[in-house]
Amino acid sequence: MTDPTRFDLDERQRAMLAEMGIRVWWPQAHDTVPADTAPPVAVPEPIALAVQPAPVAAPALAPAPTQRPAPVRPVVAAPAAPGVPVAALPADAVPLPPGVDQMDWATLQATVAECRACGLCQTRKNTVFGVGDSGANWMVIGEAPGENEDAQGEPFVGQAGKLLDNMLQAIGLSRRVEGRPEGQAGVYIANTLKCRPPGNRNPEPVELQTCAPFLVRQVALVQPKIILAMGRFAVQSLLQTSEPIGKLRGRVHHYQGVPVVVTYHPAYLLRNPPDKAKAWADLCLALQTAQG
Ligand code: URA
Repeated sequence: MTDPTRFDLDERQRAMLAEMGIRVWWPQAHDTVPADTAPPVAVPEPIALAVQPAPVAAPALAPAPTQRPAPVRPVVAAPAAPGVPVAALPADAVPLPPGVDQMDWATLQATVAECRACGLCQTRKNTVFGVGDSGANWMVIGEAPGENEDAQGEPFVGQAGKLLDNMLQAIGLSRRVEGRPEGQAGVYIANTLKCRPPGNRNPEPVELQTCAPFLVRQVALVQPKIILAMGRFAVQSLLQTSEPIGKLRGRVHHYQGVPVVVTYHPAYLLRNPPDKAKAWADLCLALQTAQG
């Protein structure tokens, strides 16, 4: 990237965008374009695709910030469809231990791994804590682990995860910590729920509420410059709203003082490819916001 004000794309980024179904056009010096000719994809501003590399990654066991996270408010996400069983609390249910809001990474991860605070612990194979650069400028927050994530203990590893990785790669981000390709910046990926709802049913409000302190602490530890919230349940539980994504897109919200851009879930985009162009616009807004 030579000129950070230009929307230059290398071959790989173009391939990524092509996979997202997005053609990007930008006038070259030799192009003569009529003033009223619109590019095929509305790009809000000519913004840089290169993301500033995250400052030297925070140590994995960074001391807890002195600033206390905001109190967790009740989650307003709609309950699962009628007839879908809600996991009962296990007989040996144990409330979250005190002090989650002060835990370091290792203690937090161990606490999640042992969590038995809601019924999802009875059916999970693995907890899905989060992955990526713990000092990243970008944080992606999804909804809940699915079958593949439950099996592997990592968020977004199925088809939706591949699309997510491609979307992130198109803006110069990678979840990889070891051997991250040169020029790519880090991202931290987590979910609102750390355990899979059985049969991929919708998360229950009580589950989102019980699990919320873990995500609050993850955000406080990462201290990202931007959060990309993906999918209805992630968005609604972060922003404490029941507004649909379509009404929340296109502006910057906040969670724990961090700017939040909302967008469609990659699984939704796989089912509704025409909306990938909207997701691209959301990524552009997030990029602009992150660059301040
Ligand atoms: N969907 C999500 O929201 N998160 C995952 O980890 C996988 C699928």
